Amino acid sequence: MTDVLAATTTSTAHVDAHAASDHIATPLTDARSQLAEAVSLLGYADGLHQMLATPRRELSVAVPLRMDSGESRLYLGYRVQHNFSRGPAKGGLRYAPNVNLDEVRALAMWMTWKCALLDVPYGGAKGGLAIDPREHSTAELERVTRRYTSEILPIIGPERDIPAPDIGTDEQTMAWMMDTYSVNSGYTVPGIVTGKPISLGGSQGRASATSRGVTHIALAALRHVGLDPARSTAAVQGFGKVGADAARFLSEAGVRVTAVSDQYGAVVNTAGLDIEALSDHVRATGSVIGFAGGEPLDGADLLTQDVDLLVPAAVEGVLHDGNAGDVQAAVIVEGANGPTTPAADRILRERGVLVVPDILANAGGVIVSYFEWVQANQAYWWRADEVESRLEERMLSAWQHVLGYARARDLSLRTAATALAVERVAEAHRLRGLYP
Ligand code: GLU
Repeated sequence: MTDVLAATTTSTAHVDAHAASDHIATPLTDARSQLAEAVSLLGYADGLHQMLATPRRELSVAVPLRMDSGESRLYLGYRVQHNFSRGPAKGGLRYAPNVNLDEVRALAMWMTWKCALLDVPYGGAKGGLAIDPREHSTAELERVTRRYTSEILPIIGPERDIPAPDIGTDEQTMAWMMDTYSVNSGYTVPGIVTGKPISLGGSQGRASATSRGVTHIALAALRHVGLDPARSTAAVQGFGKVGADAARFLSEAGVRVTAVSDQYGAVVNTAGLDIEALSDHVRATGSVIGFAGGEPLDGADLLTQDVDLLVPAAVEGVLHDGNAGDVQAAVIVEGANGPTTPAADRILRERGVLVVPDILANAGGVIVSYFEWVQANQAYWWRADEVESRLEERMLSAWQHVLGYARARDLSLRTAATALAVERVAEAHRLRGLYP
């Protein structure tokens, strides 16, 4: 007997522990707590719970890098495939100094639920490399990406596991991965990754897809609680791949974005930030700090701004039992994966704050990844307006579905979304049966 059930039992215990305190919370305990809540609602047996709580396959790799200086360094990398019941594993690749196996396990599990919830025919996976990309030259990043790709080559493929960008990686990273895989295969395989440059078989609209999806959901959620988006205010945490375009689309939709932060600091302007000008400033200086169109703000205060909508679009665990009680927003739309701990979820629910969970709110990225994979496999590309209308349709229909499920059973949107997703994965697992 492995210690899996023990670990799961421990994490079930964390559901209660979280109610009092968050100090033991990690992304993996959070993900397992959320699963445990869905499983208890669905009444599944321990064996099935254990299967759903545990990645099917994980690979840890040591990735040596020859630096431009000639010295060599070693970085630890991971690829975790959480589930394959509904199709090939799918999920991003994260480059960040503190990436670890448990974090990647949590992110892989969330990918499984996200793909199932949006009815995209994939399981879930995630990759990570414990490296700070800002400390490396482009040539070093290319070498480390190619070597990491070579190390995980045996378990990835367009029908096995399809990586995509995440924090610290981008379309250039995907181009190098695609090339490394293709050279080793002897022919070009565009379906091996998504989030590629358009000139290499990427999809129109992929780069901004997560932010577009966040915006569709944010506007729907504001209206749902009786707020007119054109009279609403928002704060956005993170000004990267998700946050920057989300701030732009929200302000284009008439929402007054009053505060924005990045990992270096924050800016506020209660009259509304000029997001175009802020983007120019960030392009020029690398940070929101020093933006002339706003006042400086402590990064930690971003989450407790007096706004209608809060979009955490950075990293895990930022809303916890220490600050959830001070959140003033009526609606939280999770652009990041895992930004809210279970203890914070409880506090926010008690206070009547509507939290739209990550696996719904930020699913736009993987939806257009799926469109990209379909297009690449058929070598037939869609127009930007086709991509965008299909994305909007899927996001809004999932929103309605989750809302209906939650209302009918008096659940939080997170528990409803997780239960819906887990049910789909369990159903595929049951229909396929257990081999042998
Ligand atoms: N990294 C993104 C996410 O967390 C996208 C994953 C993908 O497109 O496969 O959803």
